[in-house]
Amino acid sequence: MTTNGGTRTSSSAWRFSSEWRGLIAGIAEGVLSLLYPPECALCGGGTDRGKIVCDRCFTALPRFSGERCRVCGDLLPDPGLDLCTTCGTRIRPFSRIVSLAPYEGGWERLIHLFKFEGEKAIGRWLGTLLARLARDERLDQGVGSVTYVPMRREELTERGFNQAALLARAVARNLGLRLERTLIKVRPTAPQRTLPARERRENLRGAFMPVRSGRGGIILVDDVCTTSSTVEECSRALRLAGYCTVFVLAVARA
Ligand SMILES: [Zn+2]
Ligand SMILES: [Zn+2]
Repeated sequence: MTTNGGTRTSSSAWRFSSEWRGLIAGIAEGVLSLLYPPECALCGGGTDRGKIVCDRCFTALPRFSGERCRVCGDLLPDPGLDLCTTCGTRIRPFSRIVSLAPYEGGWERLIHLFKFEGEKAIGRWLGTLLARLARDERLDQGVGSVTYVPMRREELTERGFNQAALLARAVARNLGLRLERTLIKVRPTAPQRTLPARERRENLRGAFMPVRSGRGGIILVDDVCTTSSTVEECSRALRLAGYCTVFVLAVARA
């Protein structure tokens, strides 16, 4: 099966059709932008062709503040340390979690438009920003492929697309890496945010399974990293599949 539920004939055929889909989507967007001049997704004002938000709104988007753990990116209670309590006391299955921005303000609005209102052009744009961040942080060095946090078939049917998969496709295309479907979600889980810390691991235990074996390094893409539990569980499954290094790349950090 491919990411969009079709039958896979060969990986080269898949890549070929994926590239064509990207090209056709690009042409369609170009034609639409000629018919309807582009508007900023945040303020509704005019913006340059190909830009999702205007320069003014882009400059006003929130940025990370405070000292962060160099492994998981959590805010550090003691700025004198470089690791949080969790990363300081146990080995994590991922090498790093790198996120673009805090999950607030304009970023929250953009992710909402993409995820719940199906504004896929916003997702492709966020994917290019993620690819740039990955390059700046040198995550693309020594990894062969890009993958994403999977959804259950029922969730996929309800939303119509997996937002993490769309982001991952844009990241892979921009970095010139392979997009791989490596994991499946085998059972439903409760939203992590609603659970006390000690129940979060239990909620996710065994929820993700590898569907292929791999080796070398891989980038795991997610949209919003609320707690690190989901990407931690996915990273564990990727390590089990044989990948030796997992870098997590997320748009926003809650
Ligand atoms: Zn604007
Ligand atoms: Zn940490």
